[in-house]
Amino acid sequence: MAAIPEETLRTWEARGVSRRDFLTFCSTMAATLALPVTFMPRIAAALEQDDTRPPVIWLEFQSCSGDSEAFLRSSAPTAVQIILDTISLEYAEIVMAAAGHQAEEARHQAMEKYKGRYIAIVEGSIPTGKSGAYCTVAGQSAEEITRKVCGNALATIAVGTCATFGGLPAAAPNPTEARSVKEVVPNATVLNLPGCPVNAANLSAALVHFLTFGRLPAADRFGRPRFAYGKRIHDNCERRGHFDAGQYAETFGDYGHRQGWCLYKLGCKGPETWHNCPTVRYNDGLSWPVMAGHGCIGCSEPGFWDSMTPFYRRLPNVPGFGIEATADKIGLGLAAATALAFGAHGVVSAFRKTDQHEAEKIIKED
Ligand code: SF4
Repeated sequence: MAAIPEETLRTWEARGVSRRDFLTFCSTMAATLALPVTFMPRIAAALEQDDTRPPVIWLEFQSCSGDSEAFLRSSAPTAVQIILDTISLEYAEIVMAAAGHQAEEARHQAMEKYKGRYIAIVEGSIPTGKSGAYCTVAGQSAEEITRKVCGNALATIAVGTCATFGGLPAAAPNPTEARSVKEVVPNATVLNLPGCPVNAANLSAALVHFLTFGRLPAADRFGRPRFAYGKRIHDNCERRGHFDAGQYAETFGDYGHRQGWCLYKLGCKGPETWHNCPTVRYNDGLSWPVMAGHGCIGCSEPGFWDSMTPFYRRLPNVPGFGIEATADKIGLGLAAATALAFGAHGVVSAFRKTDQHEAEKIIKED
């Protein structure tokens, strides 16, 4: 295996990043991108190039700032320090020192100077109702700004479920007519990183992929990078063994729940949600909702929130065993698609007959 040159490690040490942290970062990025460890030197070399720091314009509209928060708070392995040293952040309201006219001036200058060469990162949905009156910055509507900034970017990364699919602001009845970035700028190259909030490791990995290979990573039909959204939560869940063994928590706090059994009956949407939460986790890899005892609510799927509620009602069909499918193969209509995927493989029901009746009732109600 090719080693990372000593000189590179020393350079990062001089910037305040220990060699251990840097090596951990490179190996984490390789693992997140599903690349062999032999790619570590190439990743390290890409991060080191001062002359190719891509300019980035970070926009924020109808959001709770959770994505900015998640990214800025990630510390292990010093993702922010490394990434912010590696890109040139030209505009980001939440962190920039400039404000008001000066901030807007910085954005205009960056757009002009780097036209067609910068990366736009968008957080939050874009309200299009009432001619954009629900969200304006410096007198311009979010819609107008998105069109201009993303329309002139080399590529756009939409972070969080609001920017990627509309998210909570777009839930019925969607009073502000919130739209996703791709809906507002259909011709732009957009990589979608849904999740509430975006997983900082996935955002870092997408940027590292761009720096290393000069292009965005391969994506599925929803524009989500396959390295992060290529498998269902259910496929890698640490409670999967209990699911397969038919051990389910029936209520929060019962024996099964305390023992870490499967949360399927408590409404877990892991079987129909595509994300790498179980392997990458949140809060610097510390935990994730299912690990903490709450079922997955499917926040990274299109149509969330409407498509995933009620959160505490279990999916109408019992998922099965040994399913091999991709998000692209499974059709639209999440519950129906899940039923189809599992049914097609001749699933053995792990549920009692009464559960079958309950499932039929839920299907009828839905
Ligand atoms: S149903 Fe949910 S808790 Fe159970 S194994 Fe699947 S993802 Fe994990």
